[in-house]
Amino acid sequence: MRISEVKSTSRDQRIAPHTHIKGLGLNDEGRAYQQADGFVGQSSAREAGGIVVDLIKSKKMAGRALLLAGAPGTGKTAIALAIAQELGPKVPFCPMVGSEVYSSEVKKTEVLMENFRRAIGLRIKETKEVYEGEVLELTPEETENPLGGYGKTLSHVTIGLKTVKGIKTLKLDPSIYESIQKEKVTVGDVIYIEANTGAVKRVGRSDAYATEFDLEADEYVPLPKGEVHKKKEIVQDVTLNDLDIANARPQGGQDIMSMMGQLLKPKKTEITDKLRKEINKVVNKYIDQGIAELVPGVLFIDEVHLLDIECFTYLNKALESAISPIVIFATNRGMCQVRGTEDIIAPHGIPIDLLDRILIIRTLPYTLDDIRAIVQIRARTEGLEISEDALNYTAESGVKTSLRYVIQLLTPASILARTNGRENITLEDLKEVDDLFYDAKSSAKILAEYQARYVS
Ligand code: ATP
Repeated sequence: MRISEVKSTSRDQRIAPHTHIKGLGLNDEGRAYQQADGFVGQSSAREAGGIVVDLIKSKKMAGRALLLAGAPGTGKTAIALAIAQELGPKVPFCPMVGSEVYSSEVKKTEVLMENFRRAIGLRIKETKEVYEGEVLELTPEETENPLGGYGKTLSHVTIGLKTVKGIKTLKLDPSIYESIQKEKVTVGDVIYIEANTGAVKRVGRSDAYATEFDLEADEYVPLPKGEVHKKKEIVQDVTLNDLDIANARPQGGQDIMSMMGQLLKPKKTEITDKLRKEINKVVNKYIDQGIAELVPGVLFIDEVHLLDIECFTYLNKALESAISPIVIFATNRGMCQVRGTEDIIAPHGIPIDLLDRILIIRTLPYTLDDIRAIVQIRARTEGLEISEDALNYTAESGVKTSLRYVIQLLTPASILARTNGRENITLEDLKEVDDLFYDAKSSAKILAEYQARYVS
């Protein structure tokens, strides 16, 4: 049996370095704890983020946007993600970089529109006949790693369905492994199988917000009639972009279920304005009927100074639309030329009329202690052990280079440690990888010093 996940996961990699961030880490009065929810320091920016969350919740951010201004690696992405998390569970967070709009195949505004729709969620509630079951076993399998050694993947998942005659077991394909790992599905979790289609509808810990999977219909073996099943409210979270992609395929109806069904075979063809309008119409109908609810998420545009005047004009308009996500920009630039103009110099390279609608939050460089604490959290999140002196070394090095750079040294250092037969990252491991790699500043300095030897 093949199972594929419904939710799009293409942006997950960008969020991976921030898995330790669980929220803004504020107390009831909106004050930042020195360390909470995975966050360390950067208190003023986090507190300002908390106020923005309140503004959004009380619907006072409509038509406005947020700008995070600060040096690289000062936690701008982390704050934007935390704001999305504070807005509620399953609120979409769509990160992109300004330069992404420049593609030879797709129009700039098209790229922006696509990301806007990635950042708008739709929560659909339906009552369905389902069989209830439970995850009985996750069977691991040793696989050979192409780089040497063995790794563990999942061979299959065994699910036990409650039937009148007792438990009926089903084996599910390991292609859901990644999702299972991500959602931390474990033995004992409840799952539901749709009575009519046989689709496995839930694999997850909580009923309301679990990831969704479907069995390929033609490989499904129908369950015997007369089994115990019950009615269950199923909540499905998708983004408008998921619906666009699913419906760019020519066949299929316009009701939500056939839209959902099509999400199973994501094959990107053209998404037109007409199609988006049609989808909006259907979505609005479902909202009016109380079946679906819009969940505006966060669109995070890093390096906003790389956008040009055409994009800014588009953004100005898009922010006013009735269904707009919260837009958070980030930049590390001060005064600079607005791209696509001859001579307009503006703060952060953003035209004044757009700046007018923006709240600005500054992020400040980290102290040695902050960097030390953040590296420690990251090491723990990645399951790495690191010695005290190695940790101190990263903190000192981080002050000179950047937080991002020293965090990135952790994984190569752990590989080195393992090659040397150790589990623990030592000072020597870190020094060695620090010698092998360059941070941005020293790399630029070396290039400048030896400019004559490079092709220019
Ligand atoms: P850039 O704009 O150059 O992309 P950034 O300002 O967005 O950088 P991040 O990517 O958010 O910086 O931060 C770098 C790494 O450090 C990430 O893994 C992030 O989760 C982590 N991080 C940053 N600030 C904090 C903090 N205050 N507490 C915990 N982790 C942090």
